[in-house]
Amino acid sequence: MKRVLTTCPYCGIGCMFYLLVDGDGILVGVEPSTQHVVSKGQLCVKGWNAHHFVNHPDRLTLPMIRRNGQLESTCWDEALDLVATRLKEIQAANGSDSVAFFSSAKTTNEENYLMMKLARAVFKTNNVDHCARLCHSSTVIGLAAAFGSGAMTNSISCVEQADCYLVTGSNTTEQHPLIGSRIINNVVNNGARLIVADNRKIRLSRLADIHVRWKNGTDVAFLNSVMNVIIAEGLEDTEFVRDRTENYEQLKRTVADYPPERAAEICGITPREIVQVSRIFAAAERAMIVYAMGITQHTHGVDNVKTCANLAMLTGNIGRPGTGVNPLRGQNNVQGACDMGALPDVYSGYQKVAEPAIRAKFKKAWAVKYLPDGAGHAVTTAIDAAAEGRLKALYIMGENPMMSDPDQNHVRKAIERLEFVVVQDIFPTPTTRYADIILPAGSYAEKDGTFTSTERRVQRVRKAIEPVGQSRSDWQILCDVAVKCGYGGMKYSSPEDVMDEIAALTPIYGGISYDRIDRVGLQWPCPDKNHSGTAVMHAGKFARGLGMFSPARYRPSAELPDSRYPFLLSTGRCYFHFHTGTMTRRSRLLDREEPFPFVEVNPADAAELRIQNRNWVYVATRRAEVKAMAHVTDVVGKGVLFMPFHFEEGPANLLTNNALDPVAKIPEYKVCAAKIRSAP
Ligand code: SF4
Repeated sequence: MKRVLTTCPYCGIGCMFYLLVDGDGILVGVEPSTQHVVSKGQLCVKGWNAHHFVNHPDRLTLPMIRRNGQLESTCWDEALDLVATRLKEIQAANGSDSVAFFSSAKTTNEENYLMMKLARAVFKTNNVDHCARLCHSSTVIGLAAAFGSGAMTNSISCVEQADCYLVTGSNTTEQHPLIGSRIINNVVNNGARLIVADNRKIRLSRLADIHVRWKNGTDVAFLNSVMNVIIAEGLEDTEFVRDRTENYEQLKRTVADYPPERAAEICGITPREIVQVSRIFAAAERAMIVYAMGITQHTHGVDNVKTCANLAMLTGNIGRPGTGVNPLRGQNNVQGACDMGALPDVYSGYQKVAEPAIRAKFKKAWAVKYLPDGAGHAVTTAIDAAAEGRLKALYIMGENPMMSDPDQNHVRKAIERLEFVVVQDIFPTPTTRYADIILPAGSYAEKDGTFTSTERRVQRVRKAIEPVGQSRSDWQILCDVAVKCGYGGMKYSSPEDVMDEIAALTPIYGGISYDRIDRVGLQWPCPDKNHSGTAVMHAGKFARGLGMFSPARYRPSAELPDSRYPFLLSTGRCYFHFHTGTMTRRSRLLDREEPFPFVEVNPADAAELRIQNRNWVYVATRRAEVKAMAHVTDVVGKGVLFMPFHFEEGPANLLTNNALDPVAKIPEYKVCAAKIRSAP
């Protein structure tokens, strides 16, 4: 049995495990790595089952071209020729920005770097983005404004060093299980304090000192009020505020407008709860904020993130072990895809496309005469541009916008209007149905590369088996397309060569190389070969110098319940499935545990509507109606519904609202107005 050390393809924690390959080259199992700094011999249920989907019979194994409306298999040469020719033709007729590229949080760093290089160096457009737009774009922008870097400030090992947690908008035990278990251990065994601020009664709330069940979308009012109490009671860290921050007076003036009585009314909680939270958090020596998409996926997502950063700075909880603002990244390489510049306004390492000196550096390295300087389309605005006929072609690598993006009818109409759609993926998805060309890609088990985990740790991905059918690794396909376009700057012998180029051009990855991360990954910033990586950011000095207080005012969500749609619908994930279900729904054991689309309904609402547990129901919003199984549970509060978005046969994103945060362009997945009725 061959054992190949690699990194989990699911959540951003980045557990490493061994893939087990039998003598016939068949992937047969997974074995945790006892030596790994994070997993330490443990995996969650998704990790234990991470081999199942790889050899599923649905795998795409041949390139396909649409002829007379039907997809037919073809050879690589013809498929790649057509990709290059059609994209160039469309650009010649409509301009460089008539094409866009969706990169992928599931593929490696090297592949994301190559996708953004293909878009910029070959197709001369900054229309490149990926699904961080849909999960943590507010984090990237909000934390960069406050601290100068948009990543998790601390490490997973720091979680055990905290003596107080504020967990908000994160169902940690389900979505980041090995971080959730660390929090539980520290609370149960060492008496760490735990504040949970979340409308849902998540598992952590059972152990919490206080569980604040605020109304979804009132985060800014709540956190401003917590800071109001801290300042009013003199509990702030005056030394930290004086020495390490700027714009404090503005923060003070803003939060003064949120006394507990006013905020409690907005949030649907009591003033006493706000005061309790303030005192517990401010009293801690090492308090850590842990959040996920409950904070980011709002039309005020950037404000939410900035407000979390304000609270951490006000109490001096930044730059030390056991503290910090810690956004938990949902997908295996969403951190890396951002780091690699698969974003419309930056190259790798968040180097701005608008800065002439940065452009000059990349022009020289990539041997091109011109690189565009204006910000391109985000995932969400590209869909709008397609719907309006301004965008003509889309190249999608490892993404499934027909399931992941809000208001799917809008997305479908947009994609149908495109002249040319390329989809590169490992399985057929609702998005491949609209493809003019399908390029079959290799899974994580069939290629080399790196993923960067939520704690900024760059780790190896290793090839364990040969490609399935005629599939090719994404990095090879991207290089092949570049060659077909006549560009000579994307000829690499291996992903290691690509990483060497990334390190040379990207200061925060400057010290990363395959030999240095052979067994244990390194955490960026890692500027040179002698640097041992950075576990805790902003110690002594913020990446931007002083920390910037960026006060925000409460703004209601875009679409609130009313008499026609009286429920507040929130969407998210469940324990057994991952993202749009492409992989976990093809894992026999995972799909057996959660086989149906479901909606959580509070028992009081269910009784009023005569809905029994496990009845089929219809959930409707202004955009569509979806059938799902009712889970009658007090996990959700009265008047609230919750649906996961993994299920193609009951797609929650048919229902969601595509209202965007004005800065981050992230959609408001967490709040829209809905109604529910029994299915006949
Ligand atoms: Fe670890 Fe996350 Fe993979 Fe589970 S899904 S094994 S917690 S990396």
